[in-house]
Amino acid sequence: MTATAAMRLLGLRIDVDTHEGMKRGVPALLDLFHEAGVKGTFYLSMGPDNAGKAIFNVLRRPGFLGKMRRTGAARVYGLRTVLSGTLLPARMIALALPDVARRVTAEGHEAGVHAWDHRRWQDKLPRLSPNQVAAQLGRARQAFIDIFGQPPRTFAAPAWFGDERSLQIEEWYALGYASDCRGVEPFLPVVGGKALATPQVPTTLPTLDEALGDTHADARAFYDSILDAASSAAWPVLTVHAEIEGGPYADDLRRFLREAAARGIRPAPLGEVLAARRATGVPLPRYRMGYGPVPGRHGTVFMPQRS
Ligand SMILES: [Zn+2]
Repeated sequence: MTATAAMRLLGLRIDVDTHEGMKRGVPALLDLFHEAGVKGTFYLSMGPDNAGKAIFNVLRRPGFLGKMRRTGAARVYGLRTVLSGTLLPARMIALALPDVARRVTAEGHEAGVHAWDHRRWQDKLPRLSPNQVAAQLGRARQAFIDIFGQPPRTFAAPAWFGDERSLQIEEWYALGYASDCRGVEPFLPVVGGKALATPQVPTTLPTLDEALGDTHADARAFYDSILDAASSAAWPVLTVHAEIEGGPYADDLRRFLREAAARGIRPAPLGEVLAARRATGVPLPRYRMGYGPVPGRHGTVFMPQRS
């Protein structure tokens, strides 16, 4: 076996949910990835940053204040984000910072669409009309074209929350693939009894914000468990957040990337993970979609029904 073949691929996905994450988190991560010599797939929220609205909503949920204290949400997100879309007007995310967005692809990373209005999608998707769902995806896609001069090849639904309508619109956009759900391996979703042509490359590993104060004592313990999981899983995909690992937890991510390299784990864009999976020649499995819980995350997420 060659040295390259011995390296294990780890899909590296970066979600950008807020204006602050785009403005400060993305440049910080680009520097960090350059230093570590790794590439990933950045999913950019394009439109208004209404993060504050959701933070106000979750404040009413039982148990949330305790988790916020433990994880230091105000430290992670910053006061301006907590107020964005509530006491202060919503700022645009990638549309306000197109030069930062273009730096992503100029430095050899993959870029895709995460959202038009992340919070609206996350909080309201089941109540949106088909036209509203199409408008959310269509506006985000057009914003991507305005910034990059070409259509996106990949989408990732906000909060791993999609439905059959969003899958069908993505199918119509003829993407290379999407990353709309949690799961254990790349697959083809089945909608209305038919497999779609757009593969899903799911996030397979937990995220730091889910782990902190919930399943792990600290970021170091979390990333140690990710090293073990990435060493044993077949097609692991890790999602980091520009606001979190591109902010107060950057040193933990830097250390993780160093140790991953020492263990022969090579982070890569999700498109490369899918290409490697396809190169095995084994057809992708097909699964119907459903919803299920993830430890440390409120509510349920989109996932394949593997039984
Ligand atoms: Zn997100």
